[in-house]
Amino acid sequence: MKALPPETVRLLCSSQVITSVLNVVKELVENSLDAGSSSLEVKLENYGLDRIEVRDNGSGIKATDVPVMAVKHYTSKISCHEDLERLETYGFRGEALASICAISEVVITTKTADDDFSLQYSVDHNGQIVSQKPSHLGEGTTVCAANLFRKLPVRRQYYSNSKKCKEELKRVQNLLMAYAVVKPELRITLSLNKAVVWQKSRVSDHRTALMAVLGAASVANMLPIQHHQEQPEIGIDGFFPKPGSDLNSTSSSSPDKTFIFVNSRPVHHKEILKVKELAQSNKESANRRYPILMMNITIPASTVDVNLTPDKTEVMLQNKEGVLLAVETMLISLYGYSIDVPEHTNVV
Ligand code: ADP
Ligand code: MG
Repeated sequence: MKALPPETVRLLCSSQVITSVLNVVKELVENSLDAGSSSLEVKLENYGLDRIEVRDNGSGIKATDVPVMAVKHYTSKISCHEDLERLETYGFRGEALASICAISEVVITTKTADDDFSLQYSVDHNGQIVSQKPSHLGEGTTVCAANLFRKLPVRRQYYSNSKKCKEELKRVQNLLMAYAVVKPELRITLSLNKAVVWQKSRVSDHRTALMAVLGAASVANMLPIQHHQEQPEIGIDGFFPKPGSDLNSTSSSSPDKTFIFVNSRPVHHKEILKVKELAQSNKESANRRYPILMMNITIPASTVDVNLTPDKTEVMLQNKEGVLLAVETMLISLYGYSIDVPEHTNVV
């Protein structure tokens, strides 16, 4: 028996963390948001397979951090496991840039407020800087990942399929829409081969952000909701269909317009979705419909475990029953009827 060569181990592990174009965009966008950016430009060439670029106007990366920015498990966001109890950032594992470097060719340009000019760094598959040169870009960071999955021909071919790559573009757009909804002040542009696919300007409130994403007609049928309680500390903010509103204008045949967040993190939250489906009182309907809504659940960071899946879209809640009860209470006061909350499981 022999140990695998380090570059094989790197490729095997990284290709589990970064499985799709969507994953790359999500990781880069979340880094930009963690850096306090108010503007994001996501540019794809050949649906991201040839090139993914994410440009932000955030804090930039300090020159002293640059040598380790793409080294696995180096992060500026936490310094020990206990920090997860106070987590306020999307990232914390120091894994994304290293993994993206392993499965593509990465160039990072960055400038902090203290730097006189930006520098562009080429990074090898090992996360090491191989060259640098001055650049004209302003404050913030731009990450370009080229030739995605070149060493993983099966995956590259899978995403090259014309139906698949269009679906992937849609998923990228939906993800950006989720951040647009939860962060109204964010300006976002998504382009494909230099043509703008979707964009949203900076706005001041969630309603206007929702209108930019869902259209004015859907939002006209929605009500703002707020539920805040102590012990357990739970906040629910969002927009729900007005009671009695027409099912067709307040629901969709796909779940893309059901935006659910825990502490502003987009999550797949199966049980809460189920609760809301019931709230649509759509139990007998043969057509599966998904409610158009936005809900951000705010709970103490110490009561959420987000470290379940590489893409952090599943969360484990310490007080799941309490959260579901708060959602139920809020729905009863909005729609006037009670809802069966499913029996407990650990992962919601
Ligand atoms: P993590 O986000 O878990 O810390 P990453 O590998 O995604 O790990 O990023 C490594 C580090 O590089 C981050 O902790 C951060 O300091 C820095 N970084 C990455 N992207 C950006 C960005 N867009 N702006 C500022 N700093 C960044
Ligand atoms: Mg990150």
